Amino acid sequence: MPPKTRYKNWNSFSFFLRSLWWDFLNLFFPLTCAACGNYLFKNEKVICTSCLFQLPKTNFHFQKDNPISDIFIGRVKIENATAYFTFNKGSRYQKLIHKLKYNRQAEIGIELGRHFGNTLMNSQEYRDIDTIIPVPLHPKKKKMRTYNQSEMIAKGIAEAMNSDLVVDVLIRNVHSESQTKKNKIERWLNVKNVFAIKTKDVLNNKHILLVDDVVTTGATLESCAQKLLEIDGIKVSIACLAQA
Ligand SMILES: [Zn+2]
Repeated sequence: MPPKTRYKNWNSFSFFLRSLWWDFLNLFFPLTCAACGNYLFKNEKVICTSCLFQLPKTNFHFQKDNPISDIFIGRVKIENATAYFTFNKGSRYQKLIHKLKYNRQAEIGIELGRHFGNTLMNSQEYRDIDTIIPVPLHPKKKKMRTYNQSEMIAKGIAEAMNSDLVVDVLIRNVHSESQTKKNKIERWLNVKNVFAIKTKDVLNNKHILLVDDVVTTGATLESCAQKLLEIDGIKVSIACLAQA
């Protein structure tokens, strides 16, 4: 008599195989939380449940006027602005951002982006976002770090919000001059001309979510938004992963 089929279809069998493979891999190379270093459970990805729960979330996206939107008042016309969480110097959450930027751990950005995107979907102000655009990284830096960290965050957000991710319209002009030798005004003028728009028409009348990793003075986001606002009928909102 032939043995009874345990798996009703190929899908559940392949799920079983993948699960077995995960157990096998985890036995020899246990995955750890990128924030606290503890071992991850099977259902956890990149960051453990406890670290996610304790993440110092701002919930600024549920209030129209907040410390992030205040940064841009009188500087550039923004619909809404928010940051997912805030961090203290030396905290595990600052280390998380550091790992995302310099340690080639793109998954941190994608995973936190997904969580961020899910919470943005609960806010009335962000529900009509059409397109997600990351702040472009200087090509030299991108080559060094192998990816643009803001693009990874944007990727996770776009996935969660079911929006388009556009990375080839807002671009960074290549400058050879160093910023450090300039005075404040020269630096400001320089930052103003850092970005350019390619193929304007594709973003006509869209509500854009401009994404960055960390917001401090807002100068980079301001000049990106200024450029984007040259497009017809466009609306710009801002989402940063963290507030420094
Ligand atoms: Zn953890």
